[in-house]
Amino acid sequence: MQIAEGTVVAMDYALKDDEGTLLDQSQPGQPLAYLHGYKNIIPGLEAALVGKAVGDTVEVRVAPEDGYGVPNPALEQVVPRDRFQGVESLEVGMQFQASTDQGPVSVRVVKVEEDNVTVDGNHPLAGKHLNFDVTVQEVRAATEEEIAHGHIHQGGGCCGGGGGGEGGACCNDDKESKEGDCGCSH
Ligand code: ZN
Repeated sequence: MQIAEGTVVAMDYALKDDEGTLLDQSQPGQPLAYLHGYKNIIPGLEAALVGKAVGDTVEVRVAPEDGYGVPNPALEQVVPRDRFQGVESLEVGMQFQASTDQGPVSVRVVKVEEDNVTVDGNHPLAGKHLNFDVTVQEVRAATEEEIAHGHIHQGGGCCGGGGGGEGGACCNDDKESKEGDCGCSH
């Protein structure tokens, strides 16, 4: 079976930046699984996997536009330091949850001054070229429910739990819920 919209793909992967630094990788025996065609992985990688099959390897360099985007200067903000009361030693690189109109956003401290702190809400990989080295481990047809939900329902893919099971069942089998109701917020 070849990778196409509506297939579930499991892959081993390693991700490096242009300097060759390893940024992320799947653990041995624990390939990353996703539902293809539903924007569950970055577009540049998803596009490179179309038509591949089990055993195929893919090396692809993804531009920021097809990865985590280009940094948006508007997401960098200077806030008064007294907003961080209770934080002992404020350091560059620390992460905080900021509440915004769009809900909580993870921000990184990028600059600490006497009265002000600069935080950046861009994804840490925004603006970076991403070099993926992928080996396809499994390709299967997705279930109707998976396609309806837009994500996989096995191996902990649904709701972050490992409670899925046979036949694409989802995480809240025990709870009272409508049949086929996943409990996901999707
Ligand atoms: Zn679901």
